Amino acid sequence: MIDSTELAGVRVLEPPPRPGAIQSVYIHAPFCTRRCFYCDFAVKVSPPDCAAWLKALAGELSALEQEGTFLLDRTLETLYIGGGTPSLLGANAMTGVRNLIGDERLGHFDLEWTAEANPENFTKEVATGWRFAGVNRLSLGIQSFHAPALRWMGRLHGPDGARLAVDVARAAGFENLSVDLIFGLPAHLEREWERDLDETLLLEPDHISLYGLTAEAATPLGRAVAEGREDLPGEAGYEQEYLSAVARLAEAGYEAYEVSNFALPGFQSRHNSVYWSGEPYIGLGNGAHSYRHPVRRWNSRDWDAYRTRAAGAGLPLEDSEELDATKVRLERIWLGLRTRRGIALQGLPSSARDRMRRWEEKGLAVANENVARLTPKGWLVMDRLTVELDSELG
Ligand code: SF4
Repeated sequence: MIDSTELAGVRVLEPPPRPGAIQSVYIHAPFCTRRCFYCDFAVKVSPPDCAAWLKALAGELSALEQEGTFLLDRTLETLYIGGGTPSLLGANAMTGVRNLIGDERLGHFDLEWTAEANPENFTKEVATGWRFAGVNRLSLGIQSFHAPALRWMGRLHGPDGARLAVDVARAAGFENLSVDLIFGLPAHLEREWERDLDETLLLEPDHISLYGLTAEAATPLGRAVAEGREDLPGEAGYEQEYLSAVARLAEAGYEAYEVSNFALPGFQSRHNSVYWSGEPYIGLGNGAHSYRHPVRRWNSRDWDAYRTRAAGAGLPLEDSEELDATKVRLERIWLGLRTRRGIALQGLPSSARDRMRRWEEKGLAVANENVARLTPKGWLVMDRLTVELDSELG
């Protein structure tokens, strides 16, 4: 059946969604010039090979079609190209993605198509090529404007590179621009967090993501911390930077709509909101995850293993899990608490409501008769609160 709508005298035909088919897709681009000090993402440090990347993705798509349980819908609502460093793949990479996914699937009038870029290789040519392909949201990995901090992280751009990349993006017509910043850096770097926030606000991004630095065991930073060669700020320093950022960004008009994400009105990330609301999504590329209730599955993390399997049209899966009712409940609580959506109170036992009232007394949550939401102070202890609430519902 075809739905039809009359729009200003033009008959618009929209294919109905395919039952069970999925409208949000993440594609992982694995290549980086070098690995940052703190990074534990699924990265291949090598010159980029766009042709091999697109070939492997095409093989994975065809394997998905044959398997038939995670199918892309006829039109997508969100597409997100993350990495790694997608901008390393060059100006034509997103046209390659368009050819791969197909014009029809990318034809939704309101498609949100995000791609991540690093300032050092986000050139005018890349910006123009990506806009031409249809990318309409850019996520720039700025991280800091403090040159010693950028060098310490292993980033390849300097403070001016970040400003230039924003100018290039705006000149190419990107009207939805997000920037990433990292907080919680070691004190010896003498990075001034407030100053970085001010520098960021001067660029007038539409969306800001804040990430607290963590020392994952398998990273050079993790090893340096374990061996006592580096020291991250303690809880108090981390909290102070996070809470001061939330206040500063609120003052500048950015809504904290998720623990790490802040947007001007109308600029919330629709793709990431799919993850946080428990809706289904497909992940393509090495290390990418897919989810459709109750199944979560993920691809081989290693690029070479992924590529070999996917290019031969095999499903490049590493593993999968079926979420049982207990895991689903825990995950729903965690997802609800991390966003402004919060937790609906209707139907909850009185012990859970009492628990949330205690959070409110401590300034960790606010509640009305329908919903409870964490405050920024509550977000700092979100994992503990998730477990507390779950124990009331178990
Ligand atoms: S650029 Fe990003 S993905 Fe690449 S190594 Fe650095 S943090 Fe990791």
